[in-house]
Amino acid sequence: MSSGLWPALAIVAGSVVIVADGARQGLPTIGAVIAMGAVGLFLVRNLREAHGEVEALMTSEARFKALVQQSSDVTLITTADGAISYASPSVAELFGQETAAIEGKALAALVHPDDAASLGRFLRAVAEGDMVVAEWRVKRGDSWVWTENTSTDLRNEPSIAGIVVNARDISERRSLEARLTHQAYHDSLTRLANRSLFLNRVAHAIARAPRGKRPSAVLFLDLDDFKKVNDSLGHAAGDELLVACAGRLATCVRPGDTIARLGGDEFAVLLEGIADMQDAIQIAERISGALRTSFTIHGRDVFVGVSLGLAEVTTDLTPDEALRNADLAMYFAKGQDKGRYAIYAPEMHTQLVERLELEADLRAAVDANQIEIEYQPIIHLNTGDVYGAEALVRWHHARRGSVAPSTFVAVAEETGLIIPVGQRVLGRACEQAQAWRTDRRRARDLQLSVNLSGRHFMEPTLLHDVRYALDHSGLEPRALTLEITESVLMQRSESMLEQLNAIKALGVRLAIDDFGTGYSSLGYLQRFPIDILKIDRSFVEAVAHATSDPVLVRAIIALGATLGIETIAEGIERVEQRDGLRALGCQLGQGYYFARSLTPAAFDAMLQDESERHVAHEPRRLLAPSRQRSVACWLR
Ligand code: C2E
Ligand code: MG
Ligand code: MG
Repeated sequence: MSSGLWPALAIVAGSVVIVADGARQGLPTIGAVIAMGAVGLFLVRNLREAHGEVEALMTSEARFKALVQQSSDVTLITTADGAISYASPSVAELFGQETAAIEGKALAALVHPDDAASLGRFLRAVAEGDMVVAEWRVKRGDSWVWTENTSTDLRNEPSIAGIVVNARDISERRSLEARLTHQAYHDSLTRLANRSLFLNRVAHAIARAPRGKRPSAVLFLDLDDFKKVNDSLGHAAGDELLVACAGRLATCVRPGDTIARLGGDEFAVLLEGIADMQDAIQIAERISGALRTSFTIHGRDVFVGVSLGLAEVTTDLTPDEALRNADLAMYFAKGQDKGRYAIYAPEMHTQLVERLELEADLRAAVDANQIEIEYQPIIHLNTGDVYGAEALVRWHHARRGSVAPSTFVAVAEETGLIIPVGQRVLGRACEQAQAWRTDRRRARDLQLSVNLSGRHFMEPTLLHDVRYALDHSGLEPRALTLEITESVLMQRSESMLEQLNAIKALGVRLAIDDFGTGYSSLGYLQRFPIDILKIDRSFVEAVAHATSDPVLVRAIIALGATLGIETIAEGIERVEQRDGLRALGCQLGQGYYFARSLTPAAFDAMLQDESERHVAHEPRRLLAPSRQRSVACWLR
């Protein structure tokens, strides 16, 4: 009963009283008329309301029909197993087929085979009464369109009797997502995979590792001297070089392998399913060769080297660990010699820890002023007199004992600690040499040689450091020789030439240390203001052998004489070597035969001994056996 009926009935009940009055008079009473009128009014009103509802229903149906028919979304009605019983007209646009062609078909026939599982899950969930949303591709002509599909189960609604599937074109959203995903997993400069994607792939390789017998390997690459290209030719050239490197890398691996740029000048390659690690080594060598060929960047020939680390991918590793192992191996490859490769070995971790400890201890030693200097005399080969002293750095560590420069100078160079070490050696050695030159009569002309690291040579403070050491000590510039190695000269940069000339302008002399071991070239001897060549001890060794002709030593001494450059032979250990060198015309030498490096006190005592010998007017003589003995007491 409609609620509106109750007031109507109440009116009817009131008029009955009046009707009873009228009936007594035998006439249709006013009350009865009013009551009939009220009932009539009530019926008309209800009829009108019913008519309104029908009209609203029709309007709403028309509205919904229009919405369904004109919407760009497609509305489908399907059976529980996906047979299409109705398709809205927009299906022509989305599916590229007319309604008639669609109706009666199975939805599965229109969906991409790879998305069949998604459709299956969708239909099952709908059957269980869930309202679901799923995405799949539908065929349109020759292509596939991504759609988002929403379900409503209206199987119990007689007018529908099916599942309503609302499909919407989401291809734009999908392609935007794909673009964003690509960006998130790729390096924007080289378009190679980035670290995330690389680690992802390594994770898959690890997961597959136990099943496949063929191993996988990670290669870690770092370009040598990339920074130089960036600094000298600019960042745009640096970028171009990175892109070109990425291109060459791609030619060295198989299509299925993943190449990634991890950042800066670091790349990684995942080699999946290789025969063995020998296979990986071959690829590493191929890459090394490919990158070593010159690049033309901004019209210039650019050379880069590469250091490579290799590590096998094993099941006990996380992707990060696999990459870290290859990185560690690369670090060792770089340390050995640039442009090499190294294969990861577990000992590398302990070696790295030792290296880090050494670094920390060295840092502490520099701070605590524990870096000492010893002096090795440089002798006039003809007279046995002391010509000068080479300052050699010494580090005495409480636990480690005496640490050789060959162990710590390289670490000091890599960490930059060589700068404070070099400054200290330079400053203190100049003071010491000046003290000897003033206090010891025979040492008035003592020459001081100080080794200068290539790293320090590149520092803008170098000139200031040298000038400061000279000013502070009062040592005359001509008494100081700075020793540099050939590798420093090999850099051939303009700034290096400027630096050399500026040092020369101070009046300081320059020596090439270990001459003959690097890429000796006559060219740079003429080009650079060199005063002294120090013949490396490996050549001196040949001088004493009666069988071998010391061709190189002969050539170096002759070259020095022609160019007006002094020669100092290093590492003279035996009298025959000294004699041989002297016979070849070499004037100066140093080595264990004369003395090892001496503490300042021992060197001072030796100078004093020299003075006394001369005060006693001992005849000047060559280093006679007795003299050798006196020098032998300086041997440690
Ligand atoms: P170097 O400048 O060629 O120094 C000569 C090295 O040969 C010294 O080794 C010296 O002790 C050693 N030596 C001298 N005579 C003989 C000999 O007859 N036989 C043999 N077998 N060796 C001999 P040390 O002191 O271990 O220094 C090694 C290298 O470390 C030096 O080679 C130099 O390149 C570097 N170095 C030493 N002191 C410094 C320094 O203050 N600064 C820099 N940057 N490098 C330094
Ligand atoms: Mg030296
Ligand atoms: Mg040397």
